[in-house]
Amino acid sequence: MSNSRGRFGIHGGQYITETLMNAVIELEKAYDFYKNDADFNSELTRLFNEYAGRPSRLYYAERMTQDLHGAKIYLKREDLNHTGAHKINNVLGQALLAKKMGKTRLIAETGAGQHGVATATAAALMGMSCVVFMGEEDTKRQALNVYKMRLLGAEVVSVKSGTGTLKDAVSQAMREWTSRISDTHYCLGSVMGPHPFPTIVRDFQAVISREIKSQILEREGKLPDFVIACVGGGSNAIGSFWHFINDASVKLIGCEAAGKGVDTFETAATIATGRLGIFHGMKSYFCQDEYGQIAPVYSISAGLDYPGIGPEHAYLHDTGRAEYVPVTDDEAVQAFEYLSRIEGIIPAIESAHAVFHAMKIAGKLSREKIIVITISGRGDKDCAAIARYRGENISE
Ligand SMILES: *Cc1c(COP(=O)(O)O)cnc(C)c1O
Repeated sequence: MSNSRGRFGIHGGQYITETLMNAVIELEKAYDFYKNDADFNSELTRLFNEYAGRPSRLYYAERMTQDLHGAKIYLKREDLNHTGAHKINNVLGQALLAKKMGKTRLIAETGAGQHGVATATAAALMGMSCVVFMGEEDTKRQALNVYKMRLLGAEVVSVKSGTGTLKDAVSQAMREWTSRISDTHYCLGSVMGPHPFPTIVRDFQAVISREIKSQILEREGKLPDFVIACVGGGSNAIGSFWHFINDASVKLIGCEAAGKGVDTFETAATIATGRLGIFHGMKSYFCQDEYGQIAPVYSISAGLDYPGIGPEHAYLHDTGRAEYVPVTDDEAVQAFEYLSRIEGIIPAIESAHAVFHAMKIAGKLSREKIIVITISGRGDKDCAAIARYRGENISE
């Protein structure tokens, strides 16, 4: 079922069962009210500032700039937020909204566990109960995050259906929400799913580009020429792009996880290899097999390992307003090591995809050009896996 709301060109919409319509309509009404409510907004700003540590720094990467002999490079430091990534922006917004709606329970899906940990954190902060759905495979691979969620008071449900990974966890969370909407809010983790989620999550993440814009204007007196961010579902990227979409001179670049390459089956690059489809309540581009079934995806980066892309990105791709480029595991690992050495900043392996693309283009640009890279998260969580990638076994 769909209607005209929540469309981004031909993408988006509400392709969901009738029973879930009640929940999304209630959510849309509440959001339409609270997004313009002064108290809601001042409470959220206070949480962003006092709890999450915003505004995050816009850091001039001087050594990286000198080393690449080209454009000036700035890093938007979402890795410095509480819980170590941009995800806290979205969960604080949704948890506060849920609380205002009178909900007492948050549910969420998680792949690598980062969104689950962020949701469990917000639930603890607000005194709400929390259940996180996680694919069985992922609970094994991400035992530390399972421990953290439980430590924070959340229940972790291991999802055994399908391939026991993120897409199955999303499906299970949607089923759970359908059966229990009276006290429960589904805190969705990226700019995906049925309307109004792609809009709500984008609005909460848009704080990133609002800050970038005022910080770069103060620092340089002009807009950046490029804003580069990694894309899984696309929340940190749309948050980084949003306040620049009407500034035609600012090039917006999303970096997808190419895994072992876009010419292999081990990839998660949706724009490069996907086709139009309908899944998880939305129309967008998805990685599919020849029969239109959702294809298994792969990336070294668990946070980019999703077979689709948010509908607004699909639209920005269709219209050419944003460009999407694939970055392989190998390239991301190179960038992970490079940023660590040259700036003393260990980025999340997701963010390293964006760092690589900047490394690739900066040297071809003149010194007057400015690139902003969003560092969506910190890389502590990835150190053991990258060491393993390099053939070194360290214990976590
Ligand atoms: C989850 C995650 C991502 C991918 O999610 P988006 O919705 O595409 O932003 C990227 N970076 C980090 C650090 C993450 O934890």
